[in-house]
Amino acid sequence: MRQLQRMSKRTYSAIAIISVLAAAALVVVLAARRGPATPASIEPPVISNPNSVDLLREAASKIEEDRNEPVGRRAKVEIPLELRHYSDHRRFLAVQTAEWEEHKFEIPHDFAQLADQISRGELMEVKPLNDDYILYGVGWKATDEPLTHFDQAAGRSTPLIRNNAECEAERDRLTANVTRLTEHIKDMRKQLAKARGRGVRAGLSRQAREAKESAESAAKERDLLDSYCGNPRRLSILTTEYETLAKFAANLAGDSYDPTSAASLRAFKVRLLSFLRPEAKTVLEQIAHGYKKEFNRPLPITSLVRTEEYQRHLRETNRSAAANATPPHTMGLAFDVYYHFMSAAEQSFLMAEIGRMKDAGRIEALRETRDHIHVFVFADGKPPREDLIVASLAKPGAAGFKEKHASRNAVRLRGKPAS
Ligand SMILES: [Zn+2]
Repeated sequence: MRQLQRMSKRTYSAIAIISVLAAAALVVVLAARRGPATPASIEPPVISNPNSVDLLREAASKIEEDRNEPVGRRAKVEIPLELRHYSDHRRFLAVQTAEWEEHKFEIPHDFAQLADQISRGELMEVKPLNDDYILYGVGWKATDEPLTHFDQAAGRSTPLIRNNAECEAERDRLTANVTRLTEHIKDMRKQLAKARGRGVRAGLSRQAREAKESAESAAKERDLLDSYCGNPRRLSILTTEYETLAKFAANLAGDSYDPTSAASLRAFKVRLLSFLRPEAKTVLEQIAHGYKKEFNRPLPITSLVRTEEYQRHLRETNRSAAANATPPHTMGLAFDVYYHFMSAAEQSFLMAEIGRMKDAGRIEALRETRDHIHVFVFADGKPPREDLIVASLAKPGAAGFKEKHASRNAVRLRGKPAS
């Protein structure tokens, strides 16, 4: 591991430069189209074709091309019944949860578990660009923070470490952080006691409240990690996951990522979020192929598989729903199509195609109001049993479906080169 660290320092910049992938490569495209291209970024290893950046640029410009008519939500389209909500809005999510009840797929809690599933061949990679589609903002919220284990009981993440010494050092760092925040709160209170004027006092109270929340959260983070340090059984969860991911990162279909480099980490996470179960990938390819053939544009895909941790990070499930439903994207059976730039004809074509698949019982689908069509693929080509859907509707807290997506702004923001 020390060797890995030493190597990482030496090759840090090289890796930072070459570790550009799916979203990152798209970002390069977006950035390049606003100004001169950054030569350092033009070498995405994921696509071995040397013309890949040109291809990405071309694909992105085709997606965004001005249609000279109303597009996205402003386009006048008739939404087929198949892509609308059921009269009971909760049924949409209930169907997808029932699919999980029927098959009991393993749900990846965090990146380590997702990597395991990928190693076992349960999920297949969806490349950032092929003839028929382009990944457009997949993994947009992945961070360059160190890798973590998602502790389900605590509902929080804790850093992956390599040994007990590292665990204790990290815990001590977190403890120092708690102490610093606690001192800060004391300070704020002193200032508050002396402060005059309603505006000043209100501002200080707000700051004190925020400081208190940060301190509480920091203490929970420290306590959680502390429950792993010195406990061989628990500690091995963190060390094993670190090893799994380091090994996986060293050779992901021929590409390598450095888990100790921030730039490389983010690219690695985006790559891991670019997978689907084979049945879902097949449906994606069919839909994309039809669309490309008709309009000569690649189909923009905005989300694929998600881990439970990433899902929480997106804050898209409220507590009651999280407890009783399985988020569709965590099953690796869902993907989202972005219709923001599409004309009425394009949208109608897509919806008719998706509607036919739904009529055939192969998928569940919804045209969301926020520029996306969510497609959920049934693993065995047929819907889950009705009694399972009914049971899932009957659970307390059965909820409607509300997804969080990369806004156009978020995708744009990533246009800034990571350096
Ligand atoms: Zn979705």
